[in-house]
Amino acid sequence: MARAKNKYDIIVVGGGHAGCEAALCGGRSGLKTLLVTLSAEKIGFMSCNPAIGGLGKGQLVKEVDALGGEMAKAADAAAIQYRMLNSSKGYAARSSRIQADRVKYNQYMRERVLKQKNLDVLEDEVADLIIKDKACKGVVTKPGKKINASAVILTTGTFLNGLIHLGLEHFPGGRMGEQACIDLSKSLKKHGFSVGSLKTGTTPRLDGKTIDFSVLKAQYGDKEVIPFSFSTKKLKLKQVPCYITQTNKKTHKIIRDNLDRSPLYTGVIKSTGVRYCPSIEDKVLRFSGRDSHTVFLEPEGLDTDEYYPNGIATSLPVDVQEDILHSVKGLEKVRINKPGYGIEYDFVDPTSLYATLETKIVSGLYMAGQINGTTGYEEAASLGLMAGINAALKIKKRKPLILNRSQAYIGVLIDDLVTKGTSEPYRMFTSRVEHRLLVREDNADIRLMGIGQDVGLVSKSRLSFMKNKIKKVESEKAKLDSIIVKPSKRVNDSLKRLNSAPISNPARLNQILKRPGVSYKDVLKMGKLKCLDYYEKVQVEVDIKYEGYVRRELMNIKKLERIDSMKIPGGFDYSSVNGLSNEIREKLKHFKPHSLGQAARISGITPAAVSLLMVKLHK
Ligand SMILES: Cc1cc2nc3c(=O)[nH]c(=O)nc-3n(C[C@H](O)[C@H](O)[C@H](O)COP(=O)(O)OP(=O)(O)OC[C@H]3O[C@@H](n4cnc5c(N)ncnc54)[C@H](O)[C@@H]3O)c2cc1C
Repeated sequence: MARAKNKYDIIVVGGGHAGCEAALCGGRSGLKTLLVTLSAEKIGFMSCNPAIGGLGKGQLVKEVDALGGEMAKAADAAAIQYRMLNSSKGYAARSSRIQADRVKYNQYMRERVLKQKNLDVLEDEVADLIIKDKACKGVVTKPGKKINASAVILTTGTFLNGLIHLGLEHFPGGRMGEQACIDLSKSLKKHGFSVGSLKTGTTPRLDGKTIDFSVLKAQYGDKEVIPFSFSTKKLKLKQVPCYITQTNKKTHKIIRDNLDRSPLYTGVIKSTGVRYCPSIEDKVLRFSGRDSHTVFLEPEGLDTDEYYPNGIATSLPVDVQEDILHSVKGLEKVRINKPGYGIEYDFVDPTSLYATLETKIVSGLYMAGQINGTTGYEEAASLGLMAGINAALKIKKRKPLILNRSQAYIGVLIDDLVTKGTSEPYRMFTSRVEHRLLVREDNADIRLMGIGQDVGLVSKSRLSFMKNKIKKVESEKAKLDSIIVKPSKRVNDSLKRLNSAPISNPARLNQILKRPGVSYKDVLKMGKLKCLDYYEKVQVEVDIKYEGYVRRELMNIKKLERIDSMKIPGGFDYSSVNGLSNEIREKLKHFKPHSLGQAARISGITPAAVSLLMVKLHK
């Protein structure tokens, strides 16, 4: 680690998932970058479950990869189990997820950051910001060192004013065993930011030597593995199974009997938690009709016996955690290595950010990750990368990068946050994405790699590899259009097996592929053709099978793009628009939308107000 200088182009505060992407992006953009973080050892550390991806999140990771970020490569370097979730459903719903070796993930990311050119790392706490004339000029560390910069990116995760809850005891902490950062939270309030509080929680970690695996069902990963990164060629680590068990009536009784010792149910924790990742206490009470909940026992790595019991996050006292676990099949004698706990932490209202993730009240100050009200490594990495890209573009006096909702999950994530804000930890889902048939994880490279290259994060050779993929897809589509199969017994037997009507006249393979229940692999057999690789295959199938739907979607997107492309200049005078109510005027002044499209998505902005704005913008 080098000694920190007095001046940098970019300072990133926090070495979590957002901070790593932001800092690597700064260094790779050729800008002098400093990462200030509490512990260099913990750079890229996974606070909660040892897994990357999942529904809606796999798409984010692929997009980070396509734009030139690191998370997907780290996931491949540490993956001990790959699963394509929703693989029986359509391509729009499919998302990759890996089980990670926690130590190897951490090691990989730390090494990338420490070895990155143009990037220094300082182990310290940032306590204050240097702000002059509404512009951020640097940071002040806890011992009082002032370091100047053109841009500062805050990625403080769960550490801002973090308060850990274990039963009815609570104490300051950013994660178990790590300090909370109180001063920076005070500084943000002092500078006029609207700071709120959210809550999350984690499970106890178990000693695998005390788990009876013989009575549990193993869950293996996929046989055909699709690496996370578009540039990973082969798997690095041994693949291992997870195990499945269930809570039961006895478990639920223990939880109910001890609610008077739960910080969640005695009013000690006041902040809102993650709706879609509830604690076991929440699950038992919210779904009182259910007698059991699934618990996935996930290995923490190859060189450890530790297991992460996914599905049983709790902040009940340790003795109750033990009773809960001992009531579960296979865990009757389990020993807890580390207890589960809850944590409350501060976040900044994300509507105080532009879509570039720069704050509206202090220029040159960016925020990314959990501080924006999100939850999850993948959301954090996406935001960190975009904050890094935009800070670098601003310093280079280039146009900002704002991905729109029809272009990327990342576009939806940022637009939702800065346009609607959030009152609970925001998690990405496929259902949040309107154009999800077009915006899939398999085509993230086609959608975004060109942009990644333009901002200097993707090499020319990666881009030409992607362009070659497009060529192969187009030539395969032409081939399927040109090959005509006769109504032979072989072809009609195949169709019968697929519950599809036989053909009585010669038919083109692409016409057969359009039929429900017929896949690309099926028509390949009919035409005796060779299969393309996974990504090419999906693209061919979607383009042909859903041609009409894709065309309609593209037309809808074009219409939306018309209002999204109508930019609202910074400092636009809303009082000059006649006919707007005071309430709408105030809202627009507060949100400062960057386009007419974003203005239309702000809650309470009426179609009439949008028309008035459009007329004014045209003038
Ligand atoms: C107990 C717990 C349970 C969780 N449960 C879930 C869950 O169920 N599902 C889920 O998706 N996610 C969960 N998460 C959240 C997940 O860990 C985060 O979403 C993700 O790590 C956020 O990434 P980040 O980069 O924003 O912050 P973090 O990964 O938290 O990293 C923050 C970094 O900033 C540094 N830092 C903070 N303040 C300062 C400062 N002032 N000066 C210098 N350095 C500073 C810290 O040292 C740390 O390196 C949980 C987290 C915790 C702690």
